[in-house]
Amino acid sequence: MANLQSSYDLFIDGAFIKAENGAVLDVFNPATGEKISQIADASEADVDRAVASARKAFESFRHTTTATRSEILLKIADIIEQNAQFLAEVETMDNGKPIRETLNVDVALSVEHFRYFAGVIMGEEGSSNILGNNNLLSIVLREPIGVVGQIIPWNFPFLMAAWKLAPVIAAGDTSVLKPSSETSLSVLELMRLIKDVLPKGVVNVITGRGSKSGEYLKNHEGLDKLAFTGSTTVGRDVGLAAAKRIIPVTLELGGKSANIIYADADIQKALDGVMLGILFNQGQVCCAGSRIFVQDEIYDKFVEKLVAKFKSVKVGNPLDPSTQMGSQINEKQAKKIIEYVEIGVKEGAKIAVGGKISSAGKTFVEPTLLSEVRNDMCVAQEEIFGPVGVLIRFKDEAEVIKLANDSKYGLGGAVFTRDINKALNTARAMETGRVWINTYNQIPAGAPFGGYKESGIGRETHKMILNHYTQVKNIMIDLSGKPSGFYEVK
Ligand code: NAP
Ligand code: MG
Repeated sequence: MANLQSSYDLFIDGAFIKAENGAVLDVFNPATGEKISQIADASEADVDRAVASARKAFESFRHTTTATRSEILLKIADIIEQNAQFLAEVETMDNGKPIRETLNVDVALSVEHFRYFAGVIMGEEGSSNILGNNNLLSIVLREPIGVVGQIIPWNFPFLMAAWKLAPVIAAGDTSVLKPSSETSLSVLELMRLIKDVLPKGVVNVITGRGSKSGEYLKNHEGLDKLAFTGSTTVGRDVGLAAAKRIIPVTLELGGKSANIIYADADIQKALDGVMLGILFNQGQVCCAGSRIFVQDEIYDKFVEKLVAKFKSVKVGNPLDPSTQMGSQINEKQAKKIIEYVEIGVKEGAKIAVGGKISSAGKTFVEPTLLSEVRNDMCVAQEEIFGPVGVLIRFKDEAEVIKLANDSKYGLGGAVFTRDINKALNTARAMETGRVWINTYNQIPAGAPFGGYKESGIGRETHKMILNHYTQVKNIMIDLSGKPSGFYEVK
């Protein structure tokens, strides 16, 4: 098991320093309830220090060469890879997710993410054009945007830090990053590991409560951009804070994504896809396939097979490599998930499997399916953020597209079918930022990820996010060599 420090300080200007008022928060392992460490509870003065450090660093970091920044990103990727087992264990102890996920997904994809941005920036170029009367040369350059305030959630603490930090470094910006107070350890360990490859102040990490340091950060006058991943409620406030200051914002928010199973699907692929969609990371996934639409003619048989599969899932100690589902983030969330199951039952849904706190412990929830759900029920409209799939019947393509789009969210989704036309036509008709076909929850670097509707603004995990972390400078040169003559008296 990873050796954790007994307490962690803030990471500001390249060094670990205590919070000014000395305030701390306890850190628990959600799977065992055991106190595993402490983090600093940053005050407003600490946020000010972090922003000032990022500002100072920006003045030189903005002028680094692309090759230098690419090299930094590659070094970070190598360091993460060399410490993969350790970082995965830290993440599992802090978050409760199974080690096979932290190792093979969270940490592995973070390595890929840093390498991806190291690569793409070497191929980026501006553009130029001749305009006017064939005499104006327009040059389009992208320049770093400045100091970015970045706030990330607890469901993928390490991977979300990678999604935020790689583009910041790639673009030549600097960051004040606030992880969730539930899960700050893996990013602090990352800072310890990479602090010598990163110029001082380029990344600053302030830990502490969202309602305190998060709230203060999002309204800070020293920021040039905000980037947020988390709930739609807090995301809306981050958007408002950005609007007040007229700075850009990117938001990755909640979801209630449709996983559509047509009768002609490869059934083994579809069963696998439902499990990947709703059980991965204990269902605490913004793009989880939480609304499972199954075509009428296969509904009963499919549900029966799915129930057997859900029953076979190994729930338990997240550090055991054979564990398939670990702990929810805390007891409060586990209870909230069970309350949703009860609401579903009151609304007329049936519990096909699960529905209870698992015998593995009070923060563990059984893999759960609610059947005979209608899309207008609360359990089909609200994000449960747990391993609870709702099963909804549908008749045909037109009906399922209508139902899938009847949601305020639009982040993920999938279509399972063997018919290429049906797959693509359904995918195109879905109001959502990502549609998987015959798979679910694949999030490699190199494809844009982000939401339609209330699921967010902007696309991450692709080079197009660099447009959000830079701004455009247009330089226009008159090549005519003579005055315009516009004010000559004739
Ligand atoms: P959350 O409550 O919105 O928290 C997200 C982050 O915001 C945390 O760091 C939190 O800090 C901070 N925060 C809370 N209140 C704040 C405030 N008033 N001002 C500034 N910051 C504040 O969301 P969560 O419950 O941690 O995460 C779950 C949600 O995130 C789900 O809805 C999920 O769908 C969404 N999510 C979306 C994506 C995506 O890519 N679209 C990815 C992951 C998660 P504390 O935790 O310390 O309070
Ligand atoms: Mg914890």
